[in-house]
Amino acid sequence: MDFTTLCIHGSSDRYDCTGAVSVPIFQSATFAHPMVGQSTGYDYSRLQNPTREHLEKTVAALEGGAGAKAFSSGMAAIATLMELFSPGDHIIASDDLYGGSHRYFHKISIKNGLTFDFVNTSDPALIESRIRPETKAVFIETPTNPMMQVTDIEAVSKITKKRNLLLIVDNTFLTPYFQQPLKLGADIVVHSGTKYLCGHNDTLAGFVVTADPQLFDRLQVLSTTTGACLPPFDSWLLIRGIKTLAVRMEKQQENAMRLAKWLCAQKKIKAVHYVGLPEDPGYAISKRQSSGFGAMISFEVDCEQTAKQLLERVKLIQYAESLGGVETLITYPMLQTHADVPKEEREAKGINECLLRLSVGLESAEDLTGDLEQALR
Ligand code: PLP
Repeated sequence: MDFTTLCIHGSSDRYDCTGAVSVPIFQSATFAHPMVGQSTGYDYSRLQNPTREHLEKTVAALEGGAGAKAFSSGMAAIATLMELFSPGDHIIASDDLYGGSHRYFHKISIKNGLTFDFVNTSDPALIESRIRPETKAVFIETPTNPMMQVTDIEAVSKITKKRNLLLIVDNTFLTPYFQQPLKLGADIVVHSGTKYLCGHNDTLAGFVVTADPQLFDRLQVLSTTTGACLPPFDSWLLIRGIKTLAVRMEKQQENAMRLAKWLCAQKKIKAVHYVGLPEDPGYAISKRQSSGFGAMISFEVDCEQTAKQLLERVKLIQYAESLGGVETLITYPMLQTHADVPKEEREAKGINECLLRLSVGLESAEDLTGDLEQALR
């Protein structure tokens, strides 16, 4: 089945006998047993729920995985995933990660006995040089949040496979529509489903998808035990959002390309980080491993005052955290998504008072450039 069709119809399982075209919201915490020792296949919604199950099967199929679990947020997905590891295990991670993942690893995983090396994963040799006997996994975002660095997933997977390590890819920015890490050799994909998969800035969600069925069984136990599962109504919102994933991604990317080019021509803009620009360092690898560049742009303005002016003067574009929805949002990573990353670390990556991040939505590109123009004036 074509990806676009899969987005709309999802898993072929039907859960009711009314012919409902929209998957019903099974808003039930528990399910009655027909007889002692018998089950309808559903017992309790933390374990299984038909609405969530439909969503999970759809996301697993979109990513080409053996199974997917849906969580109440991207961070809940990452937190549960980290339960695969034991004290003493070592993980190599991107040094440019979503601030919440950075915070989770530093404030919780390290306390739980894990150790980390944070490196620029765009350089696979650097990853290889940090592998130790106790290394268990490599965790990457590509493109990274917010600096848009691109990692060659296939090259890294060759290293991780040779050393029997898990390769985990946060695929939030490109979604399976543009990038399918499991097909490139990754073992696990994580998502903030809050973003493009949901697509409407109206709920939170997270996913973990695995390539290997046995790993999926382990994850299933972890997720039902820790319990941060996605509720039925939110699962339904995600099912509905995913129906339009393909068209949204195409149009948002088209808008992003126009905005990136427009930004490059502005006097007060000193640098534009968009992997779809041929001059971007990640362009060549992106072209090879992804079928699109997405709709996330970060850019540097000439001074702090311009950054603040832009954030305060935009009218249509909203100054808000998050990304991937139909509404265009502008974010100040230094004060929002990456506020907890220590200053020196942040600044070494270029996350400073001049850096802004745009999640380009579905509005008309002219309206968006018009809004930026009046805000920069
Ligand atoms: N991964 C990435 C790349 C993100 O941008 C985010 C949130 O912004 C997360 C994970 C965490 O997701 P959530 O906010 O749904 O918990």
